[in-house]
Amino acid sequence: MTDSPEQNESRDFIRERIRADLADGTTGALVTRFPPEPNGYLHIGHAKSICLNFGVAEEFGGRCNLRFDDTNPVKEEQEFITAIEADVRWLGFDWGEGAHFASDYFEQLYAWAEHLIEAGLAYVDDLSAEEMREYRGTLTEAGRESPHRQRSAAESLDLFRRMRAGEFADGARVLRAKIDMASGNINLRDPVLYRILHAAHPRSGTAWCIYPTYDFAHGQSDAIEGVSHSICTLEFEDHRPLYDWLIDNLPTPSRPRQYEFARLAVTYTILSKRHLTRLVDEGHVGGWDDPRMPTLSGLRRRGVPAAALRDFIGRIGVAKSAQTVEVAQLEACIREHLNQSAERRLAVLKPLRLVIENYPKGESELLDAVNNPEDPAAGRRQLPFSGELWIERDDFMEEPPKKFFRLAPGREVRLRYAYFVTCTEVIKDAAGEVVEVRCRYDPETRGGDAPDGRKVRGTIHWVSAAHAMAAEVRLYDHLFSRPDPGAEGEAFEDLNPDSLVALEDCQLEPSLTEAEIGQAVQFERQGYFAADPDSTPERPLFNRTVALRDSWAKIRKQQTAKR
Ligand code: ATP
Ligand code: MG
Repeated sequence: MTDSPEQNESRDFIRERIRADLADGTTGALVTRFPPEPNGYLHIGHAKSICLNFGVAEEFGGRCNLRFDDTNPVKEEQEFITAIEADVRWLGFDWGEGAHFASDYFEQLYAWAEHLIEAGLAYVDDLSAEEMREYRGTLTEAGRESPHRQRSAAESLDLFRRMRAGEFADGARVLRAKIDMASGNINLRDPVLYRILHAAHPRSGTAWCIYPTYDFAHGQSDAIEGVSHSICTLEFEDHRPLYDWLIDNLPTPSRPRQYEFARLAVTYTILSKRHLTRLVDEGHVGGWDDPRMPTLSGLRRRGVPAAALRDFIGRIGVAKSAQTVEVAQLEACIREHLNQSAERRLAVLKPLRLVIENYPKGESELLDAVNNPEDPAAGRRQLPFSGELWIERDDFMEEPPKKFFRLAPGREVRLRYAYFVTCTEVIKDAAGEVVEVRCRYDPETRGGDAPDGRKVRGTIHWVSAAHAMAAEVRLYDHLFSRPDPGAEGEAFEDLNPDSLVALEDCQLEPSLTEAEIGQAVQFERQGYFAADPDSTPERPLFNRTVALRDSWAKIRKQQTAKR
């Protein structure tokens, strides 16, 4: 799964830092963590953080915790905890003995809050949220001190204990750090450490009605877990001085150091839980695991192998400069993996009836087909063939233009793995639409080649009508119609109305009844597909993981040509 250690060590600035810290003894043992807030499902941006945190732990003989930063009970749910655990496991990582939760440290965090009050470094403030905002100042203007800032430690301690005891309403009071209202860094202008929230927590229930802020819980949770390298995204760079201040002023058992890297963005989608939550809540998608979602559960449902995702993350690298990656690069990576691993099947998505006039009536036979030309170990299978087939509507044209080499009146083509057929007649309905093509086959061409050496230009796929399995197949396109959704206005106005096309009367080769849920197969000439978890024997349902067309290769070619 990982490259050689020499490559890894110098692969990016984080790995370089870790190697140096281990070499000069700054760090005894490497400890990292992946710290999701359980307020949504994980997306592909999180995968970058997961692969980085778990990846370096693996590479440098360290340990990586899965820690839930569950400090905001209003938005957090057990459903999200369960989904996050499943997604991290699916990506291929193991956090060892049990997940960790910031909520497990509530008692310790509370004790440390009292410690700060006693040291004169925190105070209870009675300003309303709106007043606090007003007092905070702006980027260019210093803030003002709250009238409660000079309150005695004893008074603050008493009020803080009464906050905990539930005497006050939500928002009535907060605990703030006493740092510097004139600081150039707004995060140091007496940030809030605790707020009152009479809300049940998914894990601690109603034990608490005050909750630590993310900023107060995060660094201290790292310190409790002995995290040596606290790796996070760049938006927390400005919070680092606050985290360092807290660690300097608290008797924590260890001193984590924070390193920031750039978030991942991917074209034609959005990676923000706030937006993803809205997509789900407003019904723009079927749920968090809708195959169009950039979530790990959506990608899994779509048939993307975890290995392809890990590979993609490895290829894009880790740096400090903003990172927007072409979705085509992800698709190319998925294709590359599936080309190696996915078995081939025949499937007709838009069926047109083909009748072979000279094939013995009512008979059928089994033909030999290769499961995966890239992998001989995948073996072969038997395909039932008969005189009535389904072919792809797009593989026939009554008046074919130049370069159309598939079936047309009078033309001979190869039926994949089967015979040469020549079109003899076209049958239309009252509206003039082609409803059936009639052919004659050459029995000498069994297996797909002519003994007399004659060639055909086209090979098309087919499914025997009597043996076919009817199924629904869903084709997906980008969820948004522009590469940078929301760049000019509201992101939701850029939703792609054609992101889902459901084809309800597809005809698949019968061996697909045994397709495993989520396991991608290649429908020859079409793309990679995976059976959906909602698929049943009565109502089979397949999702297109990715089309065969390699648009990335095209883009790459254009790009190299430009250079
Ligand atoms: P969002 O902004 O999507 O709501 P978040 O940062 O609030 O995400 P968390 O649950 O706090 O979500 O994230 C857990 C970890 O994953 C954090 O360390 C965060 O920095 C990292 N992470 C989140 N989004 C990305 C991304 N797009 N690229 C890389 N890492 C990310
Ligand atoms: Mg966050």
